[in-house]
Amino acid sequence: LVQLYVPLNFMGFIYREIKQSVTDLEALFNLLRQDAEIADRPGAQPLRVPAGAIRFENVDFAYDPERPILKNVSFEVRPGRKIAIVGPTGAGKSTISRLLFRFYDVSAGRVTIDGQDIRDVTQTSLRAAIGMVPQDTVLFNETIRYNIRYGRWDATEDEVARAAELAQIDGFIRSLPDGYDTEVGERGLKLSGGEKQRIAIARTILKGPPILILDEATSALDSATEKDIQDALGRVAEGRTTLVIAHRLSTIVDADEILVLEAGRVVERGSHAELLAKGGAYAGLWLRQSEAERARETLARAGED
Ligand code: ATP
Repeated sequence: LVQLYVPLNFMGFIYREIKQSVTDLEALFNLLRQDAEIADRPGAQPLRVPAGAIRFENVDFAYDPERPILKNVSFEVRPGRKIAIVGPTGAGKSTISRLLFRFYDVSAGRVTIDGQDIRDVTQTSLRAAIGMVPQDTVLFNETIRYNIRYGRWDATEDEVARAAELAQIDGFIRSLPDGYDTEVGERGLKLSGGEKQRIAIARTILKGPPILILDEATSALDSATEKDIQDALGRVAEGRTTLVIAHRLSTIVDADEILVLEAGRVVERGSHAELLAKGGAYAGLWLRQSEAERARETLARAGED
């Protein structure tokens, strides 16, 4: 059996290496393609963000003209407020965040920030104004300090540590033998999903953008980590205009507005309380998630006994 296991295991290793390289190449091609499609207009001005209001006005979008993805999507996030987008997989939630970054241009309608159409401003200034905490953070094969400082290269040592503290990862980093000099990634220390996400949060705190996109992880973290991350995200979102792509409804109960997206259309909108009272799609989702949550807790308690 061992004779069979070793080559199989080795093949698994090779497969993972190849898969990783293909993924990296894909990411690279996507970046190149996106930059080729989207260019600054002649005379494009830097974006000015005195307040941080976001508006999507009757936005249609398709990656491929044959297949519309977003259909007449409109919403507004007032400065410093929080909007959450929920809906089934493939509904177009992440597409909304890609349009805000202007990785693609809308097919119809427009996206504005403080009244400026994002097609009229320079891409550099647009991307500098938006911070993103993605679902799956990919870290550089570098030190932890480098990975946090990536948010703002001129940050001082103290600022890096302060950002890590706010992201609740400073204690963990200091417990490592090499502290902030610990190499992470492929050949370095392997971090858990929650640790990587907290490094991404520290990086975003350091960047200090007026607009924030939080793309919540689909994978369930244990509830203590989950709570730490929610606290850290709450801190980074304070005073910033925030768009949350949410998978767990418990994290968006306090959002100023929740949009329910289905097949690229907004089918419901309102606060958590309004949507529950309505008894529609959101209320259904909430009920199912609450039941699943209770079942998990009961199982966990049974496991402890
Ligand atoms: P999830 O909850 O699973 O992350 P989502 O609501 O964020 O889903 P999107 O990632 O916005 O969904 O995708 C919406 C649709 O657009 C999907 O059907 C997807 O297949 C398609 N899509 C996403 N990215 C591309 C792309 N680069 N090219 C073509 N189609 C794409």
